[in-house]
Amino acid sequence: MLFREMRGIGGVVHTHSTYATGWAQAATPIPILGTTHADYLDEDVPCTELMSAEATAGDYEAETGVQILDCFRGRDPSRTPMVLVAGHGAFTWGKSAEQAVHHAVVLEEIARMAFVTRAIAPAAARLPVHLIRKHFERKHGADAYYGQGEQGRASDAERSRRRSSASKRQRP
Ligand SMILES: [Zn+2]
Repeated sequence: MLFREMRGIGGVVHTHSTYATGWAQAATPIPILGTTHADYLDEDVPCTELMSAEATAGDYEAETGVQILDCFRGRDPSRTPMVLVAGHGAFTWGKSAEQAVHHAVVLEEIARMAFVTRAIAPAAARLPVHLIRKHFERKHGADAYYGQGEQGRASDAERSRRRSSASKRQRP
């Protein structure tokens, strides 16, 4: 279902890794507290609603997909390649199975960092927007220049293509 509904997804990973699942069990999105998080996504890691009794009695696996898609209404899954399923665990995805696994490792790490941060300072604030933008855009923005991995630095053609698809994505 996720493959069908989320364009460009080549792999999905599901885990019950400890820290990510801790936040899922708390039914709490993981706040974006630092640049490690902002290197991968520019918002809190979202958390679905708890599954209803009716949905649980139905096709459970399909309903889990519905939960995730509901949570991603109005969100771009290519910008936010991970989600917490309330009371359950984590799902991540990527262009390939390898990238989906990488995102699962990243999610567990930022879940752990956020847990530690809030343990030290329960009121720790989210990273300021200028730092979120800096870190997210330099890896994922139209002019991404940092950590492009196997693709190397984006070519001019690739950058302009991304820019035009980014502008098409903008909502009124
Ligand atoms: Zn599970």
